[in-house]
Amino acid sequence: MKKILLLLLYLIIIFISIFVWKKFLVYHQLETKVNMQYNAEPVYLEHSNEFNIVNANYIEKYYDRYLAYKKLHSDYNDDTIITYVNIGLDHSFYTNMENTDMSDGILVLCNKYHTLKSNYVPNLVNLPGKYGGGQMQKEAASFFMKMVDAAKKDGISLRNVSGYRSYATQKYLYNSYVSRDGVSKADTYSARPGTSEHQTGLASDINTASSKAHFERTKEYAWLIKNSYKYGFILRYLEGKTFITGYKYEPWHFRYVGEKVATEINKLGITYEEYYVTYIMKG
Ligand SMILES: [Zn+2]
Repeated sequence: MKKILLLLLYLIIIFISIFVWKKFLVYHQLETKVNMQYNAEPVYLEHSNEFNIVNANYIEKYYDRYLAYKKLHSDYNDDTIITYVNIGLDHSFYTNMENTDMSDGILVLCNKYHTLKSNYVPNLVNLPGKYGGGQMQKEAASFFMKMVDAAKKDGISLRNVSGYRSYATQKYLYNSYVSRDGVSKADTYSARPGTSEHQTGLASDINTASSKAHFERTKEYAWLIKNSYKYGFILRYLEGKTFITGYKYEPWHFRYVGEKVATEINKLGITYEEYYVTYIMKG
């Protein structure tokens, strides 16, 4: 009898020991797991909420790109980081290319990240000779002519020197600039085929297409800066914004986006890239 009681006592002690040991193991594992999680992605824990809250244009799939860009540009605030990454600036021009979203209509974005198909030809109309000739999309052409007529009443003479240009024409132009100046210089002023806004039929080089002409010093330019938005045109390649647009200042290159958007952009004083990713792009 005594032996049986002793055996029972042993068994009870063993069971209690196992139970306590198991509890300790589970607790220990849990603690390790929590530590591991914390150590593995402290950056994520630190920044995820911040990005979600501050900017309506935050795009979940670009999360890693935002973080990488933020590391390189600690002087930019989160709004700027998100805008610039959405534009594509965390990649070099002509890398990470996407097809232009043609459903945007007159608001299409065609630049060094968004390319048109080589066979894309918009519906075009001819501009009469007194407007400089050439071709543009119908709506753009109609407002271009209204703008030229209004300018004329103010004693300002405007004409289109280059409107629509086909993929093939752009290819020829770009290649001839490359053979003259080399790729890197040609890229500062000429678009690679498929990325020229002139292929959209929504752009016009007005009066000149040469920086040597210093169009920015003319009364024609001053008139355009003051009035072009009323006819739906914006100055496309702004001074000091080469790092966004990919082009040096082109005081002659105007782009039709419609009166409403042109008025907003004129008020904001930003590039079309910034406007597009903030107000038009579908994430
Ligand atoms: Zn142009």
